[in-house]
Amino acid sequence: MSEETEHVKCLIIGSGPAGYTAAIYAARADLKPVLYQGLQPGGQLTITTEVENYPGYPKGTMGPEMMEDFKAQAERFGTDIRWGYVTSVDFSGPPHNVIVDETKEIIADTVIIATGASAKWLGLESEQRLNGFGVSACAVCDGYFFRQQTVAIVGAGDTAAEEATYLAKLCKKVFMIVRRDEMRASKAMMHRVQNTANIEVLYNHETKEIVGDKVVTGARVFNNKTKEEKVLDVTGFFVAIGHQPNTDIFKGWLDMDNNGYLKITAGSTKTNVEGVFAAGDVADHIYRQAVTAAGSGCMAAIDAERYLAHKGIH
Ligand code: NDP
Repeated sequence: MSEETEHVKCLIIGSGPAGYTAAIYAARADLKPVLYQGLQPGGQLTITTEVENYPGYPKGTMGPEMMEDFKAQAERFGTDIRWGYVTSVDFSGPPHNVIVDETKEIIADTVIIATGASAKWLGLESEQRLNGFGVSACAVCDGYFFRQQTVAIVGAGDTAAEEATYLAKLCKKVFMIVRRDEMRASKAMMHRVQNTANIEVLYNHETKEIVGDKVVTGARVFNNKTKEEKVLDVTGFFVAIGHQPNTDIFKGWLDMDNNGYLKITAGSTKTNVEGVFAAGDVADHIYRQAVTAAGSGCMAAIDAERYLAHKGIH
């Protein structure tokens, strides 16, 4: 063991709604949790603006502020919240071995993984600049802000198809930007899109730029067959080209599905490794909401607490 080695009862990796909620519950259960925030402290909500669908905030709140509140609540009960990024793990225990920033070694009786998933982006400068100001990667979160407006959504998988039909219920018109001459989405989802009157699918189209100074005012698209370019008159631009769960460091240790999401036992947060639990988007590609992540963070802390009690670790 290096001199940096530390033993903790409950190690939480990740600082989104799942991680902080796990911390609140674990701290109140006296598990003395240590939480590492990762590369994006606060998680995906820190790149959104207003959050209106989290219960308990009748007037809505801002995503970054909400995560500060979550953090403060976890700290209030004594969670040791630290900067740091977990770079490798050895789950051959329990106890488990976790390396932070390639140097610090932690021996943990329980590990709660709440590393989330990251939306994939097109990689345009304008997309980054207008993120939260008309650009969003979550129609369910942000569609409401574009009621009766015209929006665009890029992507052609099940998520894009589902979100396009969701947006079509709220918005005047939805352009769906598909880069090939067909969709990847299941036939059922594709038919739903095609049968929705206010969705116009633009096949063979690529996005060149999201137009706007402070907020989105349009999207410049390019037809890769005809080589024509045009600007769509939209105020919202949704990106739905897939998510990447943050699970690379767990490969070889934990069971995952084909897309890299952690597999957990239904009705619990247990992974295939004893003492290792997963909560939030890292194990959920279906709901992906702050409130569902928080709920599963609570479950993970309770699972960890019961596991420790069962093992007689106090
Ligand atoms: P997918 O990986 O299935 O689809 C991503 C889509 O984005 C593809 O159509 C792809 O185009 C397109 N894309 C990727 N990069 C770019 C780019 N740079 N520019 C333009 N388009 C791009 O991701 P999803 O999130 O849709 O789905 C993930 C998984 O979850 C799938 O297995 C899906 O079936 C599942 N799912 C199931 C649902 C359900 O059953 N209700 C709902 C939502 C998801 P191309 O096709 O050309 O590669």
